[in-house]
Amino acid sequence: MATRTARLLKRLRTDFQLSVITLTGLFGVIGITPYAIYRLATGNYLVGTADTIIVLSAILAVSYAWITRDTIRPGLYMVAVLSVGATLIAIDLGVNGLFWIYPMILFNFFMVTPGKALLATSLVLASLSGHALWIPGSVFESRYQMVSFLVTALMTSVLSLIFAMRTRSQRDQLQLLAIHDPLTGARNRRALNDELKIAMAGHSRHGISYGLLLMDLDHFKQVNDRFGHHVGDQVLVAFVDLIKRSSRQEDRLFRFGGEEFLLLLPNTGVEGLHTVARHLLEQVKQTLSSPGGAVTVSIGGAILQNDEHWENWLQRADACLYRAKSEGRDRVVINEAAPPSADQFT
Ligand code: GH3
Ligand code: MG
Ligand code: MG
Repeated sequence: MATRTARLLKRLRTDFQLSVITLTGLFGVIGITPYAIYRLATGNYLVGTADTIIVLSAILAVSYAWITRDTIRPGLYMVAVLSVGATLIAIDLGVNGLFWIYPMILFNFFMVTPGKALLATSLVLASLSGHALWIPGSVFESRYQMVSFLVTALMTSVLSLIFAMRTRSQRDQLQLLAIHDPLTGARNRRALNDELKIAMAGHSRHGISYGLLLMDLDHFKQVNDRFGHHVGDQVLVAFVDLIKRSSRQEDRLFRFGGEEFLLLLPNTGVEGLHTVARHLLEQVKQTLSSPGGAVTVSIGGAILQNDEHWENWLQRADACLYRAKSEGRDRVVINEAAPPSADQFT
């Protein structure tokens, strides 16, 4: 029970959209239910129905988000329901209903993309002022009040928009930083673990064939020792650029450790893996250099087998890389799967 609660709390902490939907849903149910009952009991059926729809929608959206882990659809749905509901309530109740517009604006900008939130909020403000102009005396008590409301609501919208855009760009940046190596821009080890698990699932569920190449620069320590760490860094950056340029867009490059990299190749069989590895080996030999001359690479590779765990797959490729190194470097060794045997190209 305690672990279950801890898991639920962790989901709330890590999923911002889910926490906003849940909090708003909770406020909606607790805060609006008494109003709904009161309005229906006193015969104000329009507002009573709008309140009831908002409460039921909140329960539905929160449940949907928790069960499916999809927060986009319930978020959009809630933005639509709250916008229409708040507009109807404000039209019917006048000034007393206008207070609901402010939390609605915040919710819109927290839940959906800034463009969609801006559209929904503008439609609400345009509907309210349009209604007030069409039927003078409705919604607002005076023109002055209408202008004050529009100015404050617009101010809230602009501030929310700036905040939402900033939060989004910072979150995107953080996500990017969390899975990329800062020096070379290749994906990092953390991203690799996830991708290898995805590959395992893709292979067992959809039969997608995956290849993996482990690449380790030869005698790289000498580059550092002779020309300095800075030059070593430049070689690493040039290596990653070269591999990215020489591989397909769907292939994923990861920095596995210091000067060791991993290329994950979806839709690749053993023949394809041989071809790619030999091509990369040649490209590196011909293009990559340090002030001391050409820099070469050793490559070990393996194809993911049925029911194989990714750790084993990685181990097979690593054993091949070890063989490539011990047999003289600047070569490719691919594991030919069960029964394991190796094929070598120099
Ligand atoms: P081998 O052919 O057996 O792979 O020899 P090697 O010299 O490449 O292998 P070794 O593991 O002995 O040395 C790896 C070197 O890579 C040592 C370390 O200083 C260097 N290295 C690791 N990360 C970085 C980095 O981020 N920048 C630089 N410049 N060097 C790095
Ligand atoms: Mg090395
Ligand atoms: Mg190494």
